[in-house]
Amino acid sequence: MRAAVLREHGEPLDVTEVDDPDPEPKGVVVEVEACGICRSDWHGWQGDWDWLGIQPQPGQILGHEPAGRVTAVGEDVTNFAEGDHVAVPFNLGDGTCMQCRTGHGNTCENPMPLGFVEPVPGAFAELVHVPAADHNLVHLPDGVGSVDMAGLGCRFMTAFHGLAHRAPVEAGDWVAVHGCGGVGLSAVHVADALGANVVAVDLDDDKLSTAEELGAAETVNAADADDVPGAVQALAGGGCHVSVDALGIAETCRNSVLSLGTRGTHVQIGLTTSEDEGMVSLPTDAMVMKEIEFVGSLGLPPTSYDEIFRMVARDKLDPSAVISETVSLDDVNDKLSAMTDFGTVGIPVIDEF
Ligand SMILES: [Zn+2]
Ligand SMILES: [Zn+2]
Repeated sequence: MRAAVLREHGEPLDVTEVDDPDPEPKGVVVEVEACGICRSDWHGWQGDWDWLGIQPQPGQILGHEPAGRVTAVGEDVTNFAEGDHVAVPFNLGDGTCMQCRTGHGNTCENPMPLGFVEPVPGAFAELVHVPAADHNLVHLPDGVGSVDMAGLGCRFMTAFHGLAHRAPVEAGDWVAVHGCGGVGLSAVHVADALGANVVAVDLDDDKLSTAEELGAAETVNAADADDVPGAVQALAGGGCHVSVDALGIAETCRNSVLSLGTRGTHVQIGLTTSEDEGMVSLPTDAMVMKEIEFVGSLGLPPTSYDEIFRMVARDKLDPSAVISETVSLDDVNDKLSAMTDFGTVGIPVIDEF
């Protein structure tokens, strides 16, 4: 099969022929019909996240946002058959630990992030193997196509879990979203669908107008504001109920916390880069005085995917709105390079392998 293989961090991926995968007894092989190209791929390509233990090594096939058809099924798999239309969650679990068995597979104790670690070659490829398929794999309902699912990618799953489950957002809340890349735009769209008033924050007017199209009630261009949290608070009538750092740099994290009103909740979705390695200083005294909560959010358990699918099927959420273009596997290096200077708006989806 054809696949895009990492040879050296920051160097172009090698689009080449590799061996087809065979299913393990509990695994299936999926023919990839669509796969999103995401900022997480960029981080992996750059060699970030070694402090998290998920830095892809040379030889890794990247790509973690696939949907497609099952082509081969291991002998111990009971819930999936050849031809099934499926989504492959990016945060694969072992299916056996306590987290997986209690419905929190997104925080599996033996996590296998697809396309980041050696046991799970990714989906910038014609075929992808899914271990523990009965636990990990999700049937796609009618009305949600493979490109739709790739548009949902990791960004909608992460944004939805953060806002619907971890915060959680209530109707009429003011929600600030700091950083309007793929996951930020998804957070804007999800928060609007959940009934919130959204303030979108970014440095780029194009991204802010996309945020408005996706439901942002107000926008702040951080390049024009001397005091970003102050500007957000003024728009939100004194402070937000929920604020999201959808980028993962120290400045957006602090701005998000400082955008909150009393008893507000900060949701950390963005993972940091090699500059911070996850260590960010925070205004803890203000957090004490205002009883501010700080919650992390990682992906979405596979058992909750249906919640999003119901909203997509009834047009409450439109993943196609964040898809910038459909491209071929051969374009993957161009698209990753374009992310280096934050020059992309929305998500490219590979639909040709
Ligand atoms: Zn587990
Ligand atoms: Zn992703």
